[in-house]
Amino acid sequence: MMKSNHSLLLATDLDGTFLGGSQQQRTEFYQYIETQRHRLLLVYVTGRELDWISNFLDKNPHVPKPEYIIGDVGTTIVHGETFEPIYTIQNWIEKQWDNANEKVKQLLANEPGIELQPVNPDYRVSYYYDPEKLQSSTIQKVIDAGFDCIISCHDIYFYFDVMPKGVSKGPTLLKFLKEINFNGDNTITCGDTLNDLSLFETGLKGIAVGNSEPKLVDKIQTMENVYYSLHPGVMGIWDGLKVYGKD
Ligand SMILES: [Mg+2]
Repeated sequence: MMKSNHSLLLATDLDGTFLGGSQQQRTEFYQYIETQRHRLLLVYVTGRELDWISNFLDKNPHVPKPEYIIGDVGTTIVHGETFEPIYTIQNWIEKQWDNANEKVKQLLANEPGIELQPVNPDYRVSYYYDPEKLQSSTIQKVIDAGFDCIISCHDIYFYFDVMPKGVSKGPTLLKFLKEINFNGDNTITCGDTLNDLSLFETGLKGIAVGNSEPKLVDKIQTMENVYYSLHPGVMGIWDGLKVYGKD
């Protein structure tokens, strides 16, 4: 893969982050981003599945299109224009997962407080969970079976993802930076929920936007590489870019 000539890589979550803020704020921020494309490499890092992202981009032509997409909470990685996988990294994820979808669904079939989401991603299994009913023993069961578990919430939705061990947004982003030989010092990560924590745990510069989930805000208190902006959504990203001198 070609070495990148960009001086900034913005690796951003979508919901609540790159898609957060008022319509006017988003319009202004997206226009600003488009003026920076010569130096800025845009990478979406989202929990959304690739089909959703593809539809979303078709229906929202004013939203800046990414050069690369890390989707499905870090379990898919593709070129933004063609949706062609970056095979070296996708193959690693596939190997870690080892076709475990049915195995996981059987393992958790009778667990209380979780319900399968109406999506069927290839390299993870996604549930909604009820915070009143989810048992810590369910999480332990997932870990004992050799998987990772990510729980997060957005608005009124509570997400419970069973993941290939060692795979999440952060590790996939690090492999990607290595793949394109990009300097981590020039990389900024942005997010708002617990499924973005792994981005901040990479040690790369991070921005937690103002509307971040309280549990994420708790976790980043001691992380010196993460700036917590008081501004929500895109305004938080913009504020963080200024603070890092990258605007
Ligand atoms: Mg989000």
